[in-house]
Amino acid sequence: MKKQFFALLLSVSFFRVLADEGMWLPFLLKQLNESDMKKNGCKLSAKDIYDVNNASLKDAIVHFGGGCTAEIISDKGLLLTNHHCGYSYVANHSSVDKDYLTQGFWAMNQSEEKTNPGLTATIIQRINDVTAQINAGVTDKLSEKQRDSVQQANSKQLIDAATKGTKFEAFVRPFFYGNQYILFVTLTYKDVRLVGSPPSFIGKFGGDTDNWVWPRHTGDFSVFRIYADKNNEPAEYSPDNVPYKPKKSLTISLKGVNEGDFTMVYGFPGRTQEYLFSDAVDITMNQSDPDRVALRDKRLTIMNRFMKANDTTRIAYASNYASIANYWKKWMGEMQGLKKFDAVNKKKEFEKKFLELLSSDPAEKEKFSTVFNEFHALYADYKVYQKQNDYLMECLLGINAFTAARAVEKLITTVKKYPVESAPKEMGRYYPDIEKFFKGYNKAMDKSICRTMLEAYAQGVEKKLRVPAIDSLFTANQNNYDVITDKIYNESVFVNKDKYLSALKSGDVKALETDIAYRLWKSIAAYYGTNVTPQSSAIDGKLLALYKQYVDKLTKVYKDKKFYPDANSTLRVAYGKVKPYKPRDGVVYTHFTTLDGMMEKEDPNNDDFIVFPKLKELHAKKDYGRFADKDGSLHISFIASNHTTGGNSGSPVLNAKGELIGTNYDRVWEGTMSDIMFNPEICRNIILDVHYTLFVIEKYAGAGYLINEMKIVQ
Ligand code: ASP
Repeated sequence: MKKQFFALLLSVSFFRVLADEGMWLPFLLKQLNESDMKKNGCKLSAKDIYDVNNASLKDAIVHFGGGCTAEIISDKGLLLTNHHCGYSYVANHSSVDKDYLTQGFWAMNQSEEKTNPGLTATIIQRINDVTAQINAGVTDKLSEKQRDSVQQANSKQLIDAATKGTKFEAFVRPFFYGNQYILFVTLTYKDVRLVGSPPSFIGKFGGDTDNWVWPRHTGDFSVFRIYADKNNEPAEYSPDNVPYKPKKSLTISLKGVNEGDFTMVYGFPGRTQEYLFSDAVDITMNQSDPDRVALRDKRLTIMNRFMKANDTTRIAYASNYASIANYWKKWMGEMQGLKKFDAVNKKKEFEKKFLELLSSDPAEKEKFSTVFNEFHALYADYKVYQKQNDYLMECLLGINAFTAARAVEKLITTVKKYPVESAPKEMGRYYPDIEKFFKGYNKAMDKSICRTMLEAYAQGVEKKLRVPAIDSLFTANQNNYDVITDKIYNESVFVNKDKYLSALKSGDVKALETDIAYRLWKSIAAYYGTNVTPQSSAIDGKLLALYKQYVDKLTKVYKDKKFYPDANSTLRVAYGKVKPYKPRDGVVYTHFTTLDGMMEKEDPNNDDFIVFPKLKELHAKKDYGRFADKDGSLHISFIASNHTTGGNSGSPVLNAKGELIGTNYDRVWEGTMSDIMFNPEICRNIILDVHYTLFVIEKYAGAGYLINEMKIVQ
């Protein structure tokens, strides 16, 4: 009895259809979720959320720079996203004299808005299930390669048909490991300007200490604007461009949120792996996450020391540091959460139960027992490649001299195809990247990282799995990492701006090709190209085929359950409720935080918790205007049970009527494992309350004119 109950619980926790778990495709809401959403308090129809023929909420949702989400909040293309999504653009506009990161930046009129070359804003036009079209002509007789080429040709045809003669772009993505194919037609705006960003003490309040943690007081937002040509169509930057007139912009609600309120997150979640086999979870939790965390920890410690000592270094590396620190901390939370939730054993129990459910059909049971054995065998091999790949990405490529060498590899191959005279011109294209790399470059810091990474490589990767050229370097220098580092950093042109530029200017391909860092990088690439990548890709291919069968069978065995596809940077809707949580015995976290709490955290001696006087004055006077709560406090953040991940950063959080109540920016520490296993008890997304956003814009930054553009309901 007890065992049966446990099994039932397991199946429920993996594939529940309660309001919390799931990232749903907007075009399938009608079929799969509308009635459940309504039951949970939603007042919108599926058509209000996604409609191809009429303006709907989807037209206000933007894929920001291909990574984050943003929402349109005015009829003049005003965009709201996270501070951490706009951070690198603000950093690009900053210098020691104009330190917008620390002081904040606000354009006081449109002419002061700042251009951001390369930044894009993509809006989904339509989404279609094209599984049948993609599989047209695919038969069991085809080899894997033949099948891929038939599918690719089908895909190209669909994309051509969707985009010909238009400004649209399109792509087809596999879902459920290739059991379903979906076409996305998009429109991408290329002139996206910075309007404003709060100072770091607001936008990054709590820093790495508070990142991925509740309770939270971070004003994690920034504001941009989409510009279009005179016909309201996408265009490259031009001073003649005008603010984009959207089909739909979001109405903002200042009514406030209460525990139990319906919430919905509309955005572009990046990557989840909810259907992973137990062995894969084991590798992540017990090998990969610990390896990656330890390696990033070393890099960050060094960066932190140098950045604290020098302002130019701090600004130059701020964005890079933030992005390394972000997943360093996430992986830490993930591995702890998976352990605490006993994820591997839960998966194993689930897999056992799944096989038991096939008992009535012995042939199928046999087939899937074999599938499971193949999973075990493949993952046993994969484990080793995973280690090597983690050490490539997080250790060897943590060394800037190698990253720079890798970056120039393609250029060298291209240049060699042309007559010698054209080399300087071709290579000249590369100057801006070099200027950018060396802006505020700190060679001493770089060297220190190199030394530490080399040592970490020697300690973490056993001799027989090392890149031979690196291993020989260790042996030849008696493992003296200082000597090796000195050699690389004294000789390499990639860490010497003048030498590097002069090699490019004179078209001196040889100087680059014979460079010590370049040669080492080529040996690394050759080793991986022969001994790691082909093997791990072959395993990936086999795993994919197994997952395709496994997930397909899951949907058949649990045919009354609704399945949602893993996140893959495509547009999704998640819905849940404003909810507190109990992280551990004896502790319950309330669902919101206030400015009072921020002041409690204030610590002038800790960079993460500094508060500037102006905000303290506003707090002392309780000068919150119409952004105050009923009880007179100013709410900063709240949490809800929506299933989100990276990429949902900046996503609008909407109430039952589809009005904007906040901007998604994080998840709670105990629930970061939700990318692999969603636990409704403790997985919560963290949302910046729109009251605080508007308060900062109007009262702190004095950019209240922007608020006049917005539609606000009180
Ligand atoms: N703060 C997160 C990120 O940086 C968002 C999330 O994963 O929930 O990606």
